Amino acid sequence: MSVVVKLSNVHKSFGPLKVLDGVSFEVARGEVVAVIGQSGSGKSTALRCINALETIQQGSIEVCGHAVHDEKLDKRKLRLDVGIVFQSYNLFPHLTAEQNIMLAPTCVKALGKKAARDIARDCLARVGLSEKADHYPEQLSGGQQQRVAIARSLAMQPKVMLFDEVTSALDPQLTGEVLKVMEDLARGGMTMILVTHEMAFARKVASQVVYMNKGKVWETGPGSMLDAPTTPELRDFVGSGL
Ligand code: ADP
Ligand code: MG
Repeated sequence: MSVVVKLSNVHKSFGPLKVLDGVSFEVARGEVVAVIGQSGSGKSTALRCINALETIQQGSIEVCGHAVHDEKLDKRKLRLDVGIVFQSYNLFPHLTAEQNIMLAPTCVKALGKKAARDIARDCLARVGLSEKADHYPEQLSGGQQQRVAIARSLAMQPKVMLFDEVTSALDPQLTGEVLKVMEDLARGGMTMILVTHEMAFARKVASQVVYMNKGKVWETGPGSMLDAPTTPELRDFVGSGL
């Protein structure tokens, strides 16, 4: 199996604050990795390092053949291969759903309008929003806006997708429709790393769960590890219902 993302002994501090303390894990093509853990355990920082939004002080990160830790990294090329979706969707309010999705293919990949529109329509269909192409963000629910944000990322045809608590700002009933889209992506073979508080989703969809605590990978294994944690920390975390 080919490895798409590999973190080896990654160390990251913000000033005196050690946030990643020797983090290692790897993600094979088509794998879905759920990263879980208490707030402040370093989950978002780990994702941001994978996409070179943060630099690391020690260790190595390889993503789709890019040496992310290398100071000669071409960030633009890396980010063509890596899609990232955050909790806040940040759609442009003056553009329709379709226009939001067309933006990167036209500006970054220099595709023509027609090609970009075809891609946008295809991506909207993948997130179940074909009928909302001409709607503006304010005319969409939070769950729909997040699905447009996912479609926008898909439009760049990334090799790996990173999701950072994409459902945390949503009501429970809107969370379900976004999780469904992510599950469909997973089933379609997309390589994904997702930070999530949705334990049931992690258990069901993830091929590997990474439990982070205090900047370390504390425990890792298949989804079933959540049913039988070996460390007291993970037992507490799962038991806290988070
Ligand atoms: P998580 O996503 O698991 O909640 P984060 O990776 O966001 O954790 O943060 C881990 C720690 O790093 C926290 O203590 C947070 O306050 C700190 N931190 C994150 N980003 C920065 C930053 N840019 N500057 C200083 N401290 C930061
Ligand atoms: Mg976070």
